[in-house]
Amino acid sequence: MDPRAYTCPECPDGGEDPGVLDVLYDYREAARQWAAHPPEAAARPDLFRYLPLLPVTAPPPAPVPAVGGTPLLEIPRLGGALGLGRLLVKDESRNPTRCLKDRATAIAVTLARELDVEDLYCASPGNAAISLSALCAHQGLRCHVFVPERASAGRLRWLEHFGAEVRRCPGSYDDAFATAEEVGRARGWYSRNCALNPFLVEGKKTVAFEIAEQLGGRAPDVVVSPVGDGCTLAAAGKGFRELQKIGRLDRLPRLLGVQPEAASPLVDRFLGRPPRPPGKTRAVSIAVRHPRNALRLLSELAASDGALVAVPDDSIVRAWERLGREAGIMLELSAAAALAGLEAFARHQTLAGAVVVLLLTGGRAERL
Ligand SMILES: *Cc1c(COP(=O)(O)O)cnc(C)c1O
Repeated sequence: MDPRAYTCPECPDGGEDPGVLDVLYDYREAARQWAAHPPEAAARPDLFRYLPLLPVTAPPPAPVPAVGGTPLLEIPRLGGALGLGRLLVKDESRNPTRCLKDRATAIAVTLARELDVEDLYCASPGNAAISLSALCAHQGLRCHVFVPERASAGRLRWLEHFGAEVRRCPGSYDDAFATAEEVGRARGWYSRNCALNPFLVEGKKTVAFEIAEQLGGRAPDVVVSPVGDGCTLAAAGKGFRELQKIGRLDRLPRLLGVQPEAASPLVDRFLGRPPRPPGKTRAVSIAVRHPRNALRLLSELAASDGALVAVPDDSIVRAWERLGREAGIMLELSAAAALAGLEAFARHQTLAGAVVVLLLTGGRAERL
C-alpha cells in the first residue's frame, strides 16, 4: 500500500472525474481482528479503536487529540414533530476543531508520520484547513494552506492562530486547489485534500462505525448529511458497507445528501439534469462548485437506495433556528442543511416510524 497513491495514473488529470482510488482491505482478516479486539471494548475512546479497517499500522506515537467518540443524541421533540420513530444527531462538534473533518485529518497526520513527512498541505479557506492546522500544531508538523485571494479574514484568523503557513493564490478556489496540488506534490508534502486523497475517507467512515455501535449493532433507516464534495456522506456509506462485509451489520441505511440550491452540482448530476449556474449561499462549508469525487458518492447512493436533494438558503436558516429552539443544539449554519433536506425529503416519502440520524458535521463559531 502506498499512502501517496491518490489517483489512477491511467485516468485523465484535472477532469470532472480524476480517477480517485479506493482503499480496500482483506475483509476476512479484518473480521478476524475485529472479533479478536472488539472496538466497543477498547480502552481508547477515539477512532483508532477501529484499526482493523484503517490504513495505518498503529495510532501515532504522540496520540492526536481525541478525534471521534462523539455522542449520538436523541432529539425527541423534533423527531416527534416530524412523525419519525427516532431522530438522533451525531454531534461531530465535539471533535477537537468542532468538525467531522478532524476524522480525516487524524488519518492524514498519522500517515504523514509513518512516512516521515513533516509537511502537510490542503486547499481550503474553511474547516478542512482549520482542522489540519490545529492537528499539525499539536503534532509539531508544518501545515501549508492554499486559499483564494479573497478568502474571508475571519476564517484566516483561525489558521494564523494555529500557526499555519497561508498562501494566497490569485483567482478562484479551483486555482488555489491546482496550485496546492502542484506545489504539494513537487515538494513531497502529504495531501489533506479529501476530494483527491482516498486515505482521508478512511477517517471519515469511522462516523458510521460509531453510529452502528451506538445503536447496538444496528443500522438506522436513514442517515442525512450536508454535502459539499460528497466525501463525508460517501465515507459514511462505505463505513456501513464495510461493517456489513465483515458481518457486523445486517442491512444498510439509506443515505440522504443535502446541498444548497445555489451550489448543487451533485444534485444536478444525480438527477441527470443540466447543471444550474452557481449562486451565492450562506452555507459556506458546503458551497463546492466543482466536486472532484462525484463517482464515489453516486456509487454509495446506488448501493443504499439513497438520494440527493437541494434546499434553498431560507430553509437552511429555518432548520438552524429549529435545531436551537426545539433541540438545544449548537451548530454551524451549513450543518443545518441536513435537517432542511430531511424536511424536504419527508414531503415526498413517508418516514413514519423511521430511525433517522442527522450528521451534525460542524459547530465551530464563525469568528475567532
Ligand atoms: C466539509 C463539510 C461538509 C461536507 O463535507 P463534504 O465531504 O465536502 O461533502 C459538511 N458540513 C460541514 C460543516 C463541513 O465542514
